[in-house]
Amino acid sequence: MAQEFAAAFYKSAQWRKFREWYIAGRFGLCEKCGRPGKILHHKILLTPFNVGDPEITMNPANVEYLCKDCHEAEHHAGFDADGRPVPENYWRG
Ligand SMILES: [Zn+2]
Repeated sequence: MAQEFAAAFYKSAQWRKFREWYIAGRFGLCEKCGRPGKILHHKILLTPFNVGDPEITMNPANVEYLCKDCHEAEHHAGFDADGRPVPENYWRG
């Protein structure tokens, strides 16, 4: 679920165009398992501080198209037992 600070970004025409273009280039398939994808995931997670920076939000090197299962695995991998993001993982490239 999109967080509040990112809601406007996810509604923007630029993001929608970028998302469509990126997904079309992957034939709509999850980059990890090859099943039909669902979520365009940001490797460097969006924060209130970087959501205005296209180098983060709309950089093909910072996104990957994933199915629901792979996306969940990806996010869980980045959280500690209390559900807080692990900083190392937060900023990985
Ligand atoms: Zn997958």
